[in-house]
Amino acid sequence: MGILAGRFAPSPTGPLHMGSLLAATASYLDARARGGQWLLRIDDIDTYRCIPGATEQILQTLEAHGLWWDGSVQYQSENLAEYQAALDLLAQRNDIFYCNCSRRSLAAKGAYPGKCRGNQQPLEDAAIRIRVAAAIVEFTDLLQGQQIERLAESVGDFIIRRRDGLIAYQLATAIDDGNPRISHVVRGSDLLGNTARQLYLMQQLNLATPVYAHIPTLNGADGRKLSKQNHAPAVADDQALENLLTAFGYLGLHPPTQSPHWDITSLLDWGCEHWSLEQLQGQTSVCVD
Ligand SMILES: [Zn+2]
Repeated sequence: MGILAGRFAPSPTGPLHMGSLLAATASYLDARARGGQWLLRIDDIDTYRCIPGATEQILQTLEAHGLWWDGSVQYQSENLAEYQAALDLLAQRNDIFYCNCSRRSLAAKGAYPGKCRGNQQPLEDAAIRIRVAAAIVEFTDLLQGQQIERLAESVGDFIIRRRDGLIAYQLATAIDDGNPRISHVVRGSDLLGNTARQLYLMQQLNLATPVYAHIPTLNGADGRKLSKQNHAPAVADDQALENLLTAFGYLGLHPPTQSPHWDITSLLDWGCEHWSLEQLQGQTSVCVD
């Protein structure tokens, strides 16, 4: 068995809310239960969405909840050379092209029709897309089961560098999760639909592929996922024990309440011992009560 590690990769677009704390807790427990490391990466590639001070706030919240990571924090903003090298490699193989289709000209749903495939030379004000071969991406998610996606039909050639010059989320994530140090990616089921694109990129770039487990997302009473966009409240650092107990409940972990006295450390230890993916099988969301 090689090295095992999980990771948590929040975007510094605001403080952690219960949904993101749930993802952090699940990936932490999963990694620790496997005897692995837990790595922390700040996905700060989308500089327009980053909020000053959010990274510090996220680190503070993780520490307050006893979710200590291994090694130093990785920042996507410090990994730009690696993303550019991947773009260069794909360009050398003629696997990319420049697309200046307006958003309006593309249908909101369905695969990219391949209109700009002939644009091999750099264009002003254009996104870069990867040419998607008629590939079938197949993987088994530890929670959501077997997944089969015909990428050419579902999304077609997709964007790997945005029109504004920023590296697209799919490429940055594929390269960072394709790091051979990472064996398991545990994240919210709202990201399941991105996985085939990321695996495709990992394969094209000869990167290692992790095992995935997409855990249920937390939905509000309106059925929508808790998120910064719909103003999910930040978790309070001074209620860490209560927050962890809440997260445990959503993960199907029910520590005995009559135990002498839980503290964060003993609770997380108990969680590692009792961690199992079984009770979350096939669940894509939980409603917050
Ligand atoms: Zn185009």
